[in-house]
Amino acid sequence: MPDGRHGNQPTMPFTSKPSEPIRQLLAGIKAFRARYYERRPDSMRLLATEGQHPEVLLIGCSDSRVDPALLTMAEPGELFVVRNVANLVPPYQPDGAYHGTSAAIEYAVRALKVSEIIVLGHAQCGGIQGLIRLRAGQKAEDDFVSPWVSIAGSALDPYVGPEGSEQARADAEKLQDTPAVIERAAVRASVDNLLSFPFVREGVDAGTLNIHGWWFDIESGEMWAINPITRLFQPVE
Ligand SMILES: [Zn+2]
Repeated sequence: MPDGRHGNQPTMPFTSKPSEPIRQLLAGIKAFRARYYERRPDSMRLLATEGQHPEVLLIGCSDSRVDPALLTMAEPGELFVVRNVANLVPPYQPDGAYHGTSAAIEYAVRALKVSEIIVLGHAQCGGIQGLIRLRAGQKAEDDFVSPWVSIAGSALDPYVGPEGSEQARADAEKLQDTPAVIERAAVRASVDNLLSFPFVREGVDAGTLNIHGWWFDIESGEMWAINPITRLFQPVE
């Protein structure tokens, strides 16, 4: 089979005429350049010459409605972001597998020395809905999403009967109407998993690293945060 390095050229996945969504993005890049490179070039130049020194690592969902930089009006260089399905943190598992989220956490904490980590969950999370459906006994037709969201399986445990039981199915089905409970529990589970990373635990114990759990309500635009004492979510002032 030709692989592009010799033999026949394979069909490249590019088109010469940009589609409407791509045209829109290119226009956005032009506007970004005008704003950050023409009107105030110093800040970008500084980031280019001195490198990035973000103080915050944010772990968010891939959901297109919950863009961390847009939500927080953050400037380039302020947020180190990793986004995945359902904003999950897996447990610390140095087994040589492809751990994208863990790699980002490691780089942010050990190399960039961030002082804050935020896990940002949100309402109407498709990943969490998938997790609830799985527990309700519905078969999923995917290769990667189901195993991935099962990381947050423990978030469901307090709300549903023993796995595989009829009770579990009934409980999980009911939860489909109130997924926010699980979305928030999953943020708590991710915060707990963060603490299984030795370098995160070390920073927290030394007082150099703070961890936050947030949940964004898409409908109202309200941000909720975990109260460190009660571990319950409450709206941020
Ligand atoms: Zn989501």
